[in-house]
Amino acid sequence: MDDCIFCKIVNGEIPTKFIYQDENLVAFKDIKPIAPVHILIVPKKHISSFREVSEKDRELLGEALLLAKKLAEQEKIADKGYRIGINVGKAGGQLVFHLHIHLIGGWKGGVR
Ligand code: 5GP
Ligand code: ZN
Repeated sequence: MDDCIFCKIVNGEIPTKFIYQDENLVAFKDIKPIAPVHILIVPKKHISSFREVSEKDRELLGEALLLAKKLAEQEKIADKGYRIGINVGKAGGQLVFHLHIHLIGGWKGGVR
């Protein structure tokens, strides 16, 4: 989609180092991390928000969540615990309107 920053990352227009990529998903580090590990898991397909997902995205959503789990292990934040989150809409804190899952962790103690 034109003018979508994550579509530009997905298609290589904005060069970004991928932590992971496959046919349907990419993962890369958040540009403004709020924790020592802050990764974004992004479907290649442009879906503007979680609000827009439908039954046909069932498999993609499952894949994205399982990838979050896998990357949490890979980044070695799983033993201590971590957060996964989706901001939905403006009041939900969504700034980029291309669906993504935040994987956040790696604090020394805990989140609070
Ligand atoms: P949202 O608030 O939409 O859930 O999260 C969007 C996230 O994307 C923010 O945490 C922001 O730092 C990150 N972000 C925005 N633009 C870029 C970019 O160009 N590259 C990367 N790696 N992250 C970005
Ligand atoms: Zn997009």
